[in-house]
Amino acid sequence: MTVALVTGVAGQDGSYLAERLAGEGAEVHGLVRAGERPVGLPGAVRLHVGDLRDAETLAELVRRTGPDEVYNLGGVSSVAYSWRHPVETGAVSGLGAVALYEAAWRLQEDSGSAVRVLQASSAEIFGAPDRAPQDEGTTVRPTSPYGAAKAYAHQMAAVYRARGLGVSTCVLYNHESPRRPETFVTRKITTAAARIARHGSGTLALGNLDARRDWGWAPDYVDAMVRAARHPVADDFVVASGTTRSVADFVAAAFAAAGVDDWERHVTVDPRFVRPSDPAEQVGDARRARTVLGWGGTLAFEEIVGRMVRHDLARLTA
Ligand code: GDP
Repeated sequence: MTVALVTGVAGQDGSYLAERLAGEGAEVHGLVRAGERPVGLPGAVRLHVGDLRDAETLAELVRRTGPDEVYNLGGVSSVAYSWRHPVETGAVSGLGAVALYEAAWRLQEDSGSAVRVLQASSAEIFGAPDRAPQDEGTTVRPTSPYGAAKAYAHQMAAVYRARGLGVSTCVLYNHESPRRPETFVTRKITTAAARIARHGSGTLALGNLDARRDWGWAPDYVDAMVRAARHPVADDFVVASGTTRSVADFVAAAFAAAGVDDWERHVTVDPRFVRPSDPAEQVGDARRARTVLGWGGTLAFEEIVGRMVRHDLARLTA
């Protein structure tokens, strides 16, 4: 039986991954922070309280659970947070990943059986890229504490790979689902569209409507991570849809899906939500993931938006 250890199991990707692995019959262990209460995880998932900053506890957990597969999905989840907490970000998202690689490497040395590691890397490692689309050869040049911490973890994955540990990274572009928190613009928009559709009135205050993102479907990105972890040759894989849409495009699609056709009447721009500097266009080229892993996104943009809106409409009726 496969034994898997998932950090960040309480998050969007962690919950989809835990469901997937448990559904396959794996023994799934999940790391949660003290006080964190994940909802909706399969009952079979065994939760362990711990902190990525605590290398000793991590090493002990890895020794005790003896995973075949380790997925590092934990860490701070926003660039904005990383500017307010740069030291914590480096400790959790940078050093925490290395603590996990080290623990996995030691387990592999001691047990003699291969341990596969998947690092959830991020498009933020490219910062303001000078070429589009970005691929695995694009210069790593982060421009935020978040990006720099993820870049360190990304580069240390290659260091451990050279040392004989099968660590792969998925360089993930934005990926959304009904499990996204409303701090992300996509879910903020879909909950508002549902609310406005139900009440027939209301407004939504947003920041930069022209910002563009490469948005994909979170369960597809989890599928890429599983494929990468299990591929015999560990490597870096960009995981992206390859196309960008603007925030305004997302709003238009969401309101259309909710049955509201005059979205402009309901949306205002509030300077509080406008970011001082939005990164240059981030768009990924996932050719390697497609050809080497046989991966592909399953949902078109409109369908991603539609599913999120339908989920939020159903919540209002329930
Ligand atoms: P990010 O790519 O991880 O920063 O994901 P977000 O969903 O937080 O932001 C995506 C884009 O939406 C960014 O370019 C934001 O500037 C833009 N945006 C516009 N209005 C808003 C808003 O009200 N909230 C958020 N979170 N983002 C907004």
